[in-house]
Amino acid sequence: MVRLIKEIFAIDIGIVSVIDAHRQWYKACSGLSSDEVPRENTFCRYVVDCEEPIVVEDSTKDPRFSKHPAVTGESHIRFYAGVPLKTHDGHAIGTVCAIDRRPRSFGSKDLAILTELAGAAMDRIELLQSAATDSLTEALTRRAFKQEAEQFISLALRHKHSLSCVVFDIDHFKRVNDTYGHAAGDEVLKTVASTCRTALRASDLFGRLGGEEFAIILPHIDREGAIAVAEKLRTAISSQEVCGDYGTLSATASFGVSALSIVSKDIETLLAQADAAMYQAKHKGRNRCVSWSSIQTDPTTGSRRRVLKAGSIIFNDRRSTIDCTIRSLGSDSAGLSVSNSAGIPPEFVLAIKGEGFETGCQVIAQDRQHMEVAFR
Ligand code: GH3
Ligand code: MG
Ligand code: MG
Repeated sequence: MVRLIKEIFAIDIGIVSVIDAHRQWYKACSGLSSDEVPRENTFCRYVVDCEEPIVVEDSTKDPRFSKHPAVTGESHIRFYAGVPLKTHDGHAIGTVCAIDRRPRSFGSKDLAILTELAGAAMDRIELLQSAATDSLTEALTRRAFKQEAEQFISLALRHKHSLSCVVFDIDHFKRVNDTYGHAAGDEVLKTVASTCRTALRASDLFGRLGGEEFAIILPHIDREGAIAVAEKLRTAISSQEVCGDYGTLSATASFGVSALSIVSKDIETLLAQADAAMYQAKHKGRNRCVSWSSIQTDPTTGSRRRVLKAGSIIFNDRRSTIDCTIRSLGSDSAGLSVSNSAGIPPEFVLAIKGEGFETGCQVIAQDRQHMEVAFR
């Protein structure tokens, strides 16, 4: 779109921008380097405020802009034409603009073309948005959730603020479907999602990972805060009733919590850790919240001592072996590190090299490089 703007009008800069109360940032931009500017420094805020196109053929002659740093400074902006980006329900959320470093004229035909392009940009934004939302629950789709989450994470890392991740899965949901039918199941999903949205902040990210599993990114919230949020959601879900022809139903869910840290700073790891914690919550009897950190330090049963031993994971009828490091060892469980847990089955034989120790194991939690196992 911005390339088209540059081509059609033979100018230096094309922008599709959005504006909130404080900032303007570029959805697409060609010819300018910065990606975010304070709102008060922008030409575009005038367009958004009056909700009408603005054309400035020579900014040095326009009292609103002649002293603007973009005009007097290095950027040397002379020409500006901006059209509001309007949603279908009529809100001006940004602009589509053509900008040049030389003064130029801009006739009504030009303005009509730019307006047309703004309409097309808005269509595309709304289309992308509807593809990003799950139609049943209105939560973000898995893909959109992960994409947005990556942006939240890079912001948190850049500005050094905390961020946490919650994953939850509705308990015994198959039973709801089997007993009351798929339509009742759908109603439960909808109700659970809307209960969560009501309890969460507008700035939190809420996505449906698939089936009856959801995930949340909580910016500015640390692990303890996230456990409190998960607990609040758990209570809200379990106390919400769903009424229909099938009678009155209620659901519970199991929650896992993980937080941004030196070792978990991408969405895949955060989700894997929260997921492992969630499985632990299922394992402990469902309708509860478990934090990833607690599985690390407080194994399910018994106490473990910290060890550093070389071990082998043996599976596939003893045809496959993968090296591991045993980090903690108890009478009925262990914590292992592997270079990559993908491909390791949920049950295998664990051997400690040089000690003649061998036992069958079941994986109770894992992420890419860690596994918690219970001995059988
Ligand atoms: P657990 O407590 O261990 O999570 O048990 P569960 O029964 O919830 O888990 P399981 O994974 O066995 O079953 C999930 C069910 O969710 C099976 C699947 O048919 C159902 N499901 C997935 N997506 C939808 C949906 O969009 N609508 C409805 N009604 N059911 C769905
Ligand atoms: Mg379930
Ligand atoms: Mg599930």
